[in-house]
Amino acid sequence: MDRLIKTLRARLAPGGVLTGADAAEHPRGPWTRLGQPLAILRPVSTGEVSAILRLASAAGVAVVPWGGCTGLVDGCLADASLALSLERMAAVEAIDAMAGTMTVQAGCILQTACEAAEAADLFLPLDLGARGSATIGGNLSTNAGGNRVLRYGMTRELVLGLEAVLADGTVVSAMNPLMKNNTGYDLKQLFIGSEGTLGVVTRVVLRLRPAPASHDVAFVGVDSFDGVARLLRRLERRLGGMMSAFEVMWAGFHDLVTAPPARGRPPLAGPHPFYVLVESLGGDVEGDAARFEAALAEALEDGDIADAAIARSGAERAALWALRDDVGQTARDGPIIAFDVSLPITAMEAYVDDVSAALTGRRPDLGPPQVFGHLGDGNLHIIVRVSPEDGLAGRHAIEEIVYRPLQVVGGSISAEHGIGLSKREWLPLSRSPEELRLMARLKQALDPAGILNPGKILASAT
Ligand code: ZN
Repeated sequence: MDRLIKTLRARLAPGGVLTGADAAEHPRGPWTRLGQPLAILRPVSTGEVSAILRLASAAGVAVVPWGGCTGLVDGCLADASLALSLERMAAVEAIDAMAGTMTVQAGCILQTACEAAEAADLFLPLDLGARGSATIGGNLSTNAGGNRVLRYGMTRELVLGLEAVLADGTVVSAMNPLMKNNTGYDLKQLFIGSEGTLGVVTRVVLRLRPAPASHDVAFVGVDSFDGVARLLRRLERRLGGMMSAFEVMWAGFHDLVTAPPARGRPPLAGPHPFYVLVESLGGDVEGDAARFEAALAEALEDGDIADAAIARSGAERAALWALRDDVGQTARDGPIIAFDVSLPITAMEAYVDDVSAALTGRRPDLGPPQVFGHLGDGNLHIIVRVSPEDGLAGRHAIEEIVYRPLQVVGGSISAEHGIGLSKREWLPLSRSPEELRLMARLKQALDPAGILNPGKILASAT
């Protein structure tokens, strides 16, 4: 091992290998367990990433890619492995305004990429709570979802091309800038959503949209779940494809983020069992605002919604979004597990009621779970408090309560966070034996020595 580290020090640019105290001082966020890597490697180029993987392959040492390390499934846990951080490959390389594309290095922070697009009067629609520290490479490797999937799709839909390095150091450049390109297997898809187990993404061509001119946001109170579902279908129809977010909060989450010590305050007067944050993006400031308001007025008249507040300024829009983003409140009284399930909207209300009852019954002292999510995509977040004495068995019991009923309704144990280590044992609830065997064959074909993020998604073959 010492020899490998020495070789890497000689091969990488200064500061490329952190060990000991230097590695211990490397910043760590609050959400992700990183473990104790043998070293933190910080390449500055694709050539260096290639050299790292070639040397690690030859030495049979595991490599765990690190983006912003904001994931929630232990995908970056790097015990006894080399951590490969893309933090020094963070540049926005180019924006082609005419083609509507952006080329970035994988370590580029999502927010930096969004701001660069905005400066060119363009729009990168990927948006999620960790936007200030998550990286584009991490977004790709987890196929990140977030707040605007309803309109623009998951990360997968925003990627035109990429460059990735295979386990043996081979650089595969597939930097396609074209919207349509049916020339055989779409190889980039192997690296999107595979959580760094099939290759390391180093550069990306992203598809941009024109910057939206209109931006309408409302906060709505709804008195039944049927009303929420009807509102979703109504707005999809009435807003003609402009709806970009439909975020639902169950009352418990709303109450948590609108009362001290949270900074937010209730946007509406009454208590309601459900609240919805609706966003619409379009090209006609006045016309879009009028259509948005008319659609909500109709919903109010027809009794689908009970109350609504429409943001009148950028500050008001930001304040409404800040409520939805204040997920940190759910962890203020102790440790939590954050679930990201997805299921048909028709099964959602009963599922949430049953899961809440079972969780509260198990540990009444910890209170009910907090529920919110991207309901327009069928994706719910369920935040469950755990106590230290729960231990592994308690965690397993909670996961059983949340995951098991999903199989019956055709749901998924992960809508957007991925599998990593922490959901691996539950993957068979959402994927068939044939699918799992095909995944194992792909892993074997691309990473025969099993050095790339081993044990994540699938158990190591050896
Ligand atoms: Zn989410």
